[in-house]
Amino acid sequence: MSEQAGTDYRDRTAVRVADGVEVVWLASVKGRRGADESVRPDATMPLVRLAVPGDPAAVRVGADVVATDDFVQLYLTGRISIRTHVSGPAATKAELMQYPCYRCGDASTVWRVDGLTVEGRCGLSALVPDRAGGMWATERPEADSQIQQAVRDRVATAGWALCAALSLKTSGTAGQYLAFSCAHCDALFGDWPLRSEWMNAAYVDGAIIDAVVPAGEQCLSRTHWCRERGYGLCENLS
Ligand SMILES: [Zn+2]
Ligand SMILES: [Zn+2]
Repeated sequence: MSEQAGTDYRDRTAVRVADGVEVVWLASVKGRRGADESVRPDATMPLVRLAVPGDPAAVRVGADVVATDDFVQLYLTGRISIRTHVSGPAATKAELMQYPCYRCGDASTVWRVDGLTVEGRCGLSALVPDRAGGMWATERPEADSQIQQAVRDRVATAGWALCAALSLKTSGTAGQYLAFSCAHCDALFGDWPLRSEWMNAAYVDGAIIDAVVPAGEQCLSRTHWCRERGYGLCENLS
């Protein structure tokens, strides 16, 4: 084993590939996983990290620790490979939370959408964030009709509080924007108080539940070590 910079891996891979040699690096990488861009693997630099720096017994493939002997077997038989996309069933997930009204005291259910998640065939999931709206937005993923229907259905099965209203409001400083208001008395729920309530709810078991809108089979560009788990490897479907 010898020290080298990320660019060395790439350059030295290119030299060996030009000589007709297939290369996979087993590397001790210091620091947090993925922290160092220069040693992030791709097809021109197939690099796996040792599970324990300095110990060649096992490597890290995604969230798994795999014995190095097994890794070599899986790699040589095509069951572990670097893929440029994560592919599999996709869904938009909304998170739901019950929020007590500051005025009437009754709770309404509010929701937020993180984005589209693709569950890769190898188990890796990838998220396309949908945060384009943000504060004071006139368009928000939360207003999507399929999302709203899924949220209402989930509220019904969970026996949760009525859904808050989501409608366009007008403010002198912000102009028009979409905001939640109380299902019972129509009091406006400010984005800042909601935001801090989401943060609190994250620490309470059962305070946040999910509603899911399936979005078929999709792929997202994300280079990763992909491992066969009985569903094939991830593919570029686009
Ligand atoms: Zn109210
Ligand atoms: Zn994969």
